[in-house]
Amino acid sequence: MVGRVLLLADVHSNLRALHAVLEDADRWGGFDTLWLLGDVVGYGPEPNECIDVLRRHSLVAVAGNHDVGVLDSAELVRFNALAAAACRWSRSVLNQESLQFLEPLPHMHVKASFLLVHGSPRDPIWEYIVHADQAAEVLDSCCQSHVLVGHTHRPAICRAKKDGAAHCQVPRDGDVVRLDGRLLINPGSVGQPRDGDPRASYAVLDQDLGAITFHRVCYDVGGAAAAILRVGLSEALARRLHAGY
Ligand code: ZN
Repeated sequence: MVGRVLLLADVHSNLRALHAVLEDADRWGGFDTLWLLGDVVGYGPEPNECIDVLRRHSLVAVAGNHDVGVLDSAELVRFNALAAAACRWSRSVLNQESLQFLEPLPHMHVKASFLLVHGSPRDPIWEYIVHADQAAEVLDSCCQSHVLVGHTHRPAICRAKKDGAAHCQVPRDGDVVRLDGRLLINPGSVGQPRDGDPRASYAVLDQDLGAITFHRVCYDVGGAAAAILRVGLSEALARRLHAGY
């Protein structure tokens, strides 16, 4: 077992947010390995640069819907117009090393008591877990006691209760969650948070302490928005970063 694990989801080619998260994680004691819960690319202006930074770390990664969308244009019918256009643009600029990083990504990965997936174990690429009843079904049917997801771009903790239901909470910056019982955890989005808080979101799993800590960190949102416009992506994708939606 590796002690401290940085949990990241939905980086979405936002290099400024990714750098801010890595620097902030170092300030809080660093990490030994990085678990990436899908959607490295899409929406943002720096897909190659983000993949390059991530590959330098000890890394376990699963694919998200945008990672799949840039590789397979047949998948783009499932995206809205803005997301599909960003996938097409990303595909047009991805270099060979980036494609080689994305192509073999599995849809799920198991590490001891943890299951890593972008959406959900029953629909790894596409299901958004937004309700407690979905979390309860997943936790009830999953072999692993800790399910780590992304995709909604909102941090969440859902805990299975004795009666089979689940209780979900929105973690705040600095919240610590003990890994007792069956849990579904979403660290939130690095590169495009959608909970009204524009700060990059991530979490750190400390396996020695048996706990996950949630973090938010400010980054250069203006710079990221300007970079989106510079490469010709939609102004709507730039605007949403400022408000975190
Ligand atoms: Zn995403």
